Amino acid sequence: MPASVKSCSGLAALTPAPWERPAEEEYILNAMKTGYLIDMDGVIYREESLIPGAADFVQTLLALGTPFLFVTNNSSPTPEDLAVRLKHLGIQGLSERHFYTSALNTADFLSETDPGCTVFVIGEGGLLAALHQRKIASDTIAPRYVIVGEGAATTERLGKAHECIERGAGLLATNPDNWCPVSSKKTRPGAGATAAFLEASTGRRAYYLGKPNGYMFHQAQRKLAGAGGAKPDQVVMIGDTMETDIRGAFEAGLPSFLVLSGSTQLENVGDYVYQPTRILQTVGDLVEELKTGKPSTHLDSPAFATVPSNRSGVRHQTDILALYKPRPRPAMTK
Ligand SMILES: [Mg+2]
Repeated sequence: MPASVKSCSGLAALTPAPWERPAEEEYILNAMKTGYLIDMDGVIYREESLIPGAADFVQTLLALGTPFLFVTNNSSPTPEDLAVRLKHLGIQGLSERHFYTSALNTADFLSETDPGCTVFVIGEGGLLAALHQRKIASDTIAPRYVIVGEGAATTERLGKAHECIERGAGLLATNPDNWCPVSSKKTRPGAGATAAFLEASTGRRAYYLGKPNGYMFHQAQRKLAGAGGAKPDQVVMIGDTMETDIRGAFEAGLPSFLVLSGSTQLENVGDYVYQPTRILQTVGDLVEELKTGKPSTHLDSPAFATVPSNRSGVRHQTDILALYKPRPRPAMTK
């Protein structure tokens, strides 16, 4: 009997053994046991194009009723914006409940830890809407917090934020990303860079929400459990960035699947002390597994076909060999 069935208290005694159970029933049981937290950029799309297999993957999750939630550090869009964007890219059937952004995470954090607080915001629509939804008022005179998200960091706003922090406001950033991809050849400054500017000018340290902060993962799991009705037996994080998706999942105690369709090259995975549970080329690799309900081992992943079988065992960033590799561009400062 699969471990997941054993782990459901009471279910094991009531459920017939697999060989007594119709194939279709077993299929449904397997399909329902796992929920997914899914990063977007580099996992579902890259620039203005869907990643091969991503649409099939999302449609399969929807068709099976598998609980899932898109989890992104981008604080600019609202969940509705993201649903529209994916619709234009060719993925139908999504609504705002399928998305959890670092802006929502920041609004959740404030409404939970300091309800009634006021904020001065450097950020765009998604962050402003999330704070408004939680009834967190904007305050340019004596805010309790300066909130830094993506974009809108004009010299004037930075100067005002600096003054507020000097007068005692706390500094919060929606996420720690120093830069964000715009295209394969272009990046833009992220919320982490703006927060670092204010850290330098004020001498105050920011608190960074979003991935890999455990609060992001715990809130996302809570939302995932509440949305689908049936609480999943296990939650898996799928992402393309080691420093945020994989590190955050590891620290939250979740299994993680790294996809090689985004920011991470297979040869760089060994540079990190934390490792993904599995490595896949794209989320498309999971479609067959979801449909059949039969998990494959990570060695079946096409990614491993490229790893020489005699690869040496050293794989951590303390390894001397890693010093001779080009340094990956950091996604964050902390
Ligand atoms: Mg990503």
